[in-house]
Amino acid sequence: MQGSSSSSPTIDLPRLRAAFDGQVIAPDDPGYDQARTLFYGGWDRHPGAIVRPTDAAGVARVVALAGDAGLELAVRGGGHSLAGHSTTEGGLVVDLSAMTDLEIDPEGRTAWAQTGLTAGAYTAAVGKHGLATGFGDTGSVGIGGLTLGGGVGFLVRRLGLTIDSLLAAEVVTADGRILQVDDQHHPDLFWALRGGGGNFGVATRLRFRLHPVDQIVGGMLLLPASAEVIEGLVATAEAAPEELSGIANVMVAPPLPLLPEAAHGQLVVLALLCYAGEAEAGERALAPFRALAEPVADMLQPMSYADMFAAEEEEYHPTAVSRTMLVDTVDREVAGTIMRHLEASDAPVRVAQLRVLGGAMARVPVEATAFAHRDSRIMVNLAAFYEGPDDRVVRQAWVDEFAAALHQGDSRAYVNFIGDEGPDRVREAYPGPTWDRLAEVKRRYDPGNLFRRNQNIPPAPGPA
Ligand SMILES: Cc1cc2nc3c(=O)[nH]c(=O)nc-3n(C[C@H](O)[C@H](O)[C@H](O)COP(=O)(O)OP(=O)(O)OC[C@H]3O[C@@H](n4cnc5c(N)ncnc54)[C@H](O)[C@@H]3O)c2cc1C
Repeated sequence: MQGSSSSSPTIDLPRLRAAFDGQVIAPDDPGYDQARTLFYGGWDRHPGAIVRPTDAAGVARVVALAGDAGLELAVRGGGHSLAGHSTTEGGLVVDLSAMTDLEIDPEGRTAWAQTGLTAGAYTAAVGKHGLATGFGDTGSVGIGGLTLGGGVGFLVRRLGLTIDSLLAAEVVTADGRILQVDDQHHPDLFWALRGGGGNFGVATRLRFRLHPVDQIVGGMLLLPASAEVIEGLVATAEAAPEELSGIANVMVAPPLPLLPEAAHGQLVVLALLCYAGEAEAGERALAPFRALAEPVADMLQPMSYADMFAAEEEEYHPTAVSRTMLVDTVDREVAGTIMRHLEASDAPVRVAQLRVLGGAMARVPVEATAFAHRDSRIMVNLAAFYEGPDDRVVRQAWVDEFAAALHQGDSRAYVNFIGDEGPDRVREAYPGPTWDRLAEVKRRYDPGNLFRRNQNIPPAPGPA
C-alpha cells in the first residue's frame, strides 16, 4: 500500500493480495464487474479493489490499510444503498458478503449474526426455531445497513424498529480497534449505532433479540386504487391492533401471472399485510381491509413469517429516483393528490408507498436511540424507475413535484430511504439534539471521517 497523500492514492495490489489470500478482487480479475455491481443500477463505479474479509480481524486490516494509504473506503453489506454509497471510484470496498455466520440461542432467544447476512437468510434460519427479528420488506437487503439506519418492516408496530431488538454489536473503528459495544460498554457508540448509519465504524457482528413469531396471517391484498380506498386503508391500518403492520404500494399492477389480466396496467393498491399473532384474531384484523373494495386479488392466508419476503430475481438492477417523507395524515384530500400524481405520469413503474407506523416503535423514548422520529405516523416513499439520463430528468421532476404536493409542514426523513440528496437532507434524518450528539460521537470514534461513504455526519470540531 502506498502511503501517498495525493488526491488519488494507488493501491499496492500484491501487498493487498498477500494480506487477504484469495479474497481480493481487482479490476483485471474475473468476476470484478459482478463484484462491483450494486442492487440499484446507475452506480457505475470502479473500485481499486474489493476485499472480502471473513472476520473482524480481517475487516480491521482493510480499515487500517485504507486509513494509512488515504484511500476512500466503502463498506458493503447487502449492496442496497439508494445513494450508491457501498462502492467507490478508485478506492477500497470492504465487502462483508463472506461473513455469514449465525449463532442462534433458541432458549435464550438471542442471535449473533455476522453482517454479510441478508434479512432473508437470517429470517429463514431463525424461523426454523419459530423465532424472528423484524427487518424490512425485502429479503436481499443486508442486515448491517438496514439495522444501523433503524429498520422498518412487517413487525414494526408489534416489535418496534430493528434497532429496538439490537442488544450488542462488534464494531471495527477507524483506528482499527475491534470493540464490543452494548448498553454497558461504549454506550455512546451503542446509542449512535442505533440509527446513525455506517458513520462510526464497520459493524462486523450484531446481537439481536429473537421473538416468538412463527405463523402469521398475511401476504398480498390487491385492491383497486381510488382516493377512497387509500384513505380507508390508512385509517384501517391506524385503527388495527399492533400485531398488524403493513406496507401499501399504490402503483400500476405489474403483468404478473398471479394477477388477473384485467388488472394489468391498472392503478392498484398492492398491500402487504402481516398480522403477527393468533390466527383467528388475525382474520378479524384483516377483514376490514378486505371490505374496503372488491379485491382484485386476495392472497392473505396463514403462512410462516419468513414467507413474507417475496422471491427475487438476482440480476434485477433497476434505476430509480425516489423521495422519502414522514407525514401526519393521509385523508381524502391527500389520497386524491396521490391518485392525481400517479395518473399524471407515464413511468412504467411509479409508486407511492405508505407505511403506517406507531405501536411498539412509538413507545421507545425519542432520546433512547439515534433514530428520533418515533412519533411519526406515516412513512411515504415516492419512486419512479427511469431509462437513461433524459428520462431521469423527467422522473425526478415528477417525484419532486409529487413530494412538494404531499409536504405537511416539515421535512423529516428516515435515513435509510434517502438517496444521493446532499448534506442538508441528511440533517433532516436527525433533529437538532440528535445531530449534535451524533457529531460528538463521530468526533470521538472517527475524527478523520474515514467512514464518509454514507449519509455522512461530519465530526464535531474539537480534539479527537
Ligand atoms: C429494494 C429495497 C427495499 C428496502 N426495504 C426496506 C425496508 O423495508 N425497511 C427499511 O428499513 N429499509 C429498507 N430499505 C433500505 C435499506 O435499509 C438501506 O438501503 C440499507 O442501507 C441497505 O443495507 P445494505 O447492507 O443492503 O446496503 P449496502 O449498500 O451494502 O450498505 C449501505 C450503507 O450502509 C452502511 N453499512 C452497511 N453495512 C454496514 C456494516 N456492517 N457496518 C457499517 N456500515 C454498514 C454503509 O455506510 C453502506 O454504505 C430497502 C432498500 C431497498 C433497495
